[in-house]
Parts: sequence; structure tokens; C-alpha cells
Amino acid sequence: MSIEVVLLGTGNPLPDPSRAGAATLVRAGGRTLLFDAGRGVCMRMAAAGAVPLMLDAVLLTHLHSDHICDLNDVVTTQWVMGQQPKPLPIFGPVGTRQVVDGMQAMMALDVGYRRAHHDDLDWDPSITVHEISPGPVSDEGGVTIVAAASDHRPVEPSLAFRVEHDGHAVVLAGDTVPCAGLDALCAGADVYVQTVLRPDLVELVPVQRFRDTTDYHSSVEQAAQTAERAGVSTLVLTHQIPTPAPGSEEEWLGLARAHFHGTVVFGEDLTRVETGGA
Ligand SMILES: [Zn+2]
Ligand SMILES: [Zn+2]
Repeated sequence: MSIEVVLLGTGNPLPDPSRAGAATLVRAGGRTLLFDAGRGVCMRMAAAGAVPLMLDAVLLTHLHSDHICDLNDVVTTQWVMGQQPKPLPIFGPVGTRQVVDGMQAMMALDVGYRRAHHDDLDWDPSITVHEISPGPVSDEGGVTIVAAASDHRPVEPSLAFRVEHDGHAVVLAGDTVPCAGLDALCAGADVYVQTVLRPDLVELVPVQRFRDTTDYHSSVEQAAQTAERAGVSTLVLTHQIPTPAPGSEEEWLGLARAHFHGTVVFGEDLTRVETGGA
């Protein structure tokens, strides 16, 4: 009765051959949830034994391109593999409706081609959009989802999510600096997944556009401090900026361990973490 977390993509916006874009799969109580839908999400879902048709919901932390750029692939693949219409709920912050409307406009020609070609595919992709605010999101099948405000300004609003099932809890924080909403959401969680940045390495790069990213991401140290304050069991580092050099894992882990006494996991694509008491 545990909660399973699979990091589908641990990459940042810069393309990397071994890291897909931001996306995390959560399986709990027979439900399959996708948090963010970055580059390559459907390929990594397949590697994790999932296809979009299995999804009960997609939840978006924020509307930065690296977290949503393959959402259309999730929706199209769910549609073409279906035997009957199956609405796919998409939860996200205010602005999600605008993103999905634009995406559907982009998809319209393809939808027309496929419907013209396949007699049995006589429905359009079915999506329900839920623009949500901090607070309860859903409570179905013994799986509860709660959202909290994160702080990724100037990206506003942005959200972090907590999934609870059978006494276990997992937090998907997305891109954020430490903030009160995140602290409260993380309290006592088994697993806390945080996108992280190393200011010491980013500052070495003489490109201001890259250096700009330091002010709206948690550093590894800050993520560890949030984990310690909230008393979580396991901190998972993902979406590392800059892309870690081969062999540097222990360096990243050491920075976190200096501030957090629990377990720290260095995320790679398809890293799998399960809450205790499996
Ligand atoms: Zn972002
Ligand atoms: Zn991001």
C-alpha cells in the first residue's frame, strides 16, 4: 500500500542525451498520476511500464516550457490508443486553460487527418481542464491530492503537490525557492522530490541568461534545509542545474547531507523511490 515515484525526466531546459524533460510518475492505490510533461515524457513512461491511456490525471506544477512541452504527445497518444472516449483530467495553475486551448489548436489538423483515416476513431481527444488554487485537488480511490503555492516568480502562479495514500505521503515540489507553503506541504512526508540548482557551478558560467536561473530555484542546500525543517524521510534531487558532470553524484549528495539527516537520492531518469512499508 505504498506510493511509488518514478522520475521520468530529470533534465533541465538544455537538451541532454541521457536526461528527458521534467516529468514524474506517481502510482498509488491503483491510480497513475503524471506530474508535468516535459521533453520525452511518453518514451520514459513506456520505460516505466506505463502508457498515457493508463493515466488518471495529469498535474502541472507551472507552465514553463520544460514542464509542458510534450503534453500534446501525452494527449494525442492517449487518444489514438483508446477504444472509446476517456476524458483525461489536466490540473494546473491559472493559465492552464490558455495553454491547453493553444495546444488543441495546434493539434487540430492532425486530429482531422486521423479521424478521416480511421472509421472507428470518431471522437476528438477528450480533455477536462481544471485550473486550481492552493488547497484540496482531488480525493479518489483512497488517494488524496493537495496543492500548495510555491514561489517560482516571475512564474505566477506556481504549485507544489502532495499525494497521500494509506498513511504515506509524497511531495512533488516543482521549481520553487523555499517558502512557507512548501514547508507546510512537506511536513512529515515520506518522500520530497525537489528540482535543484547549484549556484556555485552556475556562477562559473559567464552567460547572464544562465546565471539568471539562480534566483528562482532551490539550491541543493535549500532543498535539504526544507527537508530537515519538514521532517521528511527521503529527499530526491531532480531537474539538476547545471546538468551534473559524470561522477559528481557524491558531491551533490554531500551538499544535501550537510543540512539533512534523512536519506538523499540523486535523481537520474527512471530512478524509482517507494515510500516505506511497501
Ligand atoms: Zn520553471
Ligand atoms: Zn524547470
